Amino acid sequence: MKPEGLFLVISAPSGAGKSTLIRMLCREFPDFGFSISYTTRQPRPDEVHGREYFFVSRDEFLELKAGNFFAEWAEVHGNFYGTPKDQILQSIDQGQNLILDVDVQGARQIKENINRGVFLFVFPPSLEELRNRLKKRGSEKDADIDRRLENAVIEMLANGIFDYWLVNDDIDRAYEQLRSLVLAEKLRPERNPGLPQKIAAGKWF
Ligand code: ADP
Ligand code: 5GP
Repeated sequence: MKPEGLFLVISAPSGAGKSTLIRMLCREFPDFGFSISYTTRQPRPDEVHGREYFFVSRDEFLELKAGNFFAEWAEVHGNFYGTPKDQILQSIDQGQNLILDVDVQGARQIKENINRGVFLFVFPPSLEELRNRLKKRGSEKDADIDRRLENAVIEMLANGIFDYWLVNDDIDRAYEQLRSLVLAEKLRPERNPGLPQKIAAGKWF
């Protein structure tokens, strides 16, 4: 029997530190795949096409959407974002561990359409700190930062579908909590099929 992969869906207001936490997690757990989304947003200076996102035009995105290419999609801060369906269904079927980084609308669609996964919402410690982090990242103009902060309040108040809440105040403490979640989820019986039989047969080691 194949173990079920851990399908971790993470949402957070932009700037809360989700990408930083995901990078740390993938470094420690290289068995996690990361679903690369499509977006119409412009790449940031350090972003690479096919690594952080597939960067496409609005027309290309709409064509993919019309072809039923996405498992979910949403318009976030004025840009389109979408998760390719085949990639995640294949990973789930093959029992691979997978991380999905989507906004709250996307997480809700994944829950409704795929009905699998562990859903985590990451909070910033305050809106003031969120603004500081967005400014420090330096990738958005002031108007974009205001838009992201307005959206942050909406997302924080509409996150009822999540299984776990985590506050990213100190990054090391927040990461410690994230890795605890992953380690605990890996202990679920469905991720360890046949374990009692192996132990009973003396074949666990
Ligand atoms: P997101 O992916 O949620 O938009 P990022 O991971 O890009 O956010 O983080 C936004 C900025 O905040 C980055 O410059 C990152 O280095 C910084 N950051 C992340 N977590 C923390 C933290 N706990 N304390 C201070 N700065 C942080
Ligand atoms: P950013 O532009 O800062 O990379 O991401 C902005 C927002 O878009 C974040 O909340 C992020 O989680 C969300 N996002 C990234 N990829 C996807 C996706 O494929 N689908 C959805 N619905 N949201 C996404």
